[in-house]
Amino acid sequence: MAIKLFIPGPTIVSEDILKELSLPMISHRSKQASEIQKRISDNMQKVLFTENRILLSTSSGSGLMEGAIRSCTAKRAAVFSIGAFGDKWFKMAKTNGVPADKFSSVMGEPTTPEMVDQALSTGKYDLVTVTHNETSSGIQNPVEEIAEVMKKYPDVVWCVDAVSSAAGSKIETDKLGIDVLITSTQKALALPPGMAICAMSRKAYDRTAEVEHRGLYFDLRTIWDFIDKKNYQYTSTPCLSIMYALDKQLQHIVNEEGVENRFARHQQMAEFTRAWANEYFRVYPNPKYLSRTLTVIDSHPKGSDQMISIPELNKALAERGMQIGNGYGDLKDKTFRIAHMGELTMDHMKEVTSAIVDILKLK
Ligand SMILES: *Cc1c(COP(=O)(O)O)cnc(C)c1O
Repeated sequence: MAIKLFIPGPTIVSEDILKELSLPMISHRSKQASEIQKRISDNMQKVLFTENRILLSTSSGSGLMEGAIRSCTAKRAAVFSIGAFGDKWFKMAKTNGVPADKFSSVMGEPTTPEMVDQALSTGKYDLVTVTHNETSSGIQNPVEEIAEVMKKYPDVVWCVDAVSSAAGSKIETDKLGIDVLITSTQKALALPPGMAICAMSRKAYDRTAEVEHRGLYFDLRTIWDFIDKKNYQYTSTPCLSIMYALDKQLQHIVNEEGVENRFARHQQMAEFTRAWANEYFRVYPNPKYLSRTLTVIDSHPKGSDQMISIPELNKALAERGMQIGNGYGDLKDKTFRIAHMGELTMDHMKEVTSAIVDILKLK
């Protein structure tokens, strides 16, 4: 029996979708391949509320994060970090020789619009990166407020890491004015890992012309141009099996479940999990900015100065066919993480939380 995953990726993949992975190969230069890719683009635009160009990459989300900061920074990047994944984006800039500065928030706190305004008012930067949903601390950044600041700086390209929130938390890409929004398949999209997806604006595309060394495989301009030239095909051989699955899953999300229903389901699971966590433990980050796709919880049960052991808890949960996430990076033992994303339901959340209460004999 498959283990029920409550970790923030990979997430449970439905039986229907798993079947797509065993379908026969086709030529990635066929008309059929173009049709699949076109349908993926059209449906992805609906999920991300955008008319921007959809680019796919056979890599995990990190590939397009690296590609975005490298392809679209002509002058200097301002990287806003609220945890492990923001730090990683900064490292990507540095290791690619992209000039960048990092603006960090205290762990458990968001990036504020004031921080962004202050950095951009120096005139030093032509690209900004923001983490939409920081999977290490459990924060969802106030992108609506940050968007208001970004509007004051129309020449700056705005990149957003929505790897662990897109398709689970509503992001109105065009209304916010996000130029490059990045996600990957194995989180709220509930697919196996293997592809990264981004929505890229014309403004970001135009910027790439000013950047000399964009690399090749993750060069967003090369990918964009090839889609035009070859009618929705890719420069290299894409992971066709994941594309079949992505195509099918997007049809499920858009035509069967409905995007608004999907967001509402995630919201309901988030509210339930937070309330449970605050009854027996404490939700870790600033309560004003909570993630809708996972809850990060302090490892001390209420009224105790002893942390629970997450490996021990997971051992006991495994006997019941479940797994939760330990803390990430600096928060490894101090917190644990329960994801509520993808195809999980309220029944799943009730099952895992009551199992934890039972195992730990919480009162
Ligand atoms: C998982 C994750 C990533 C990395 O994505 P991969 O697909 O594993 O490369 C980046 N950012 C955030 C916020 C994530 O949760």
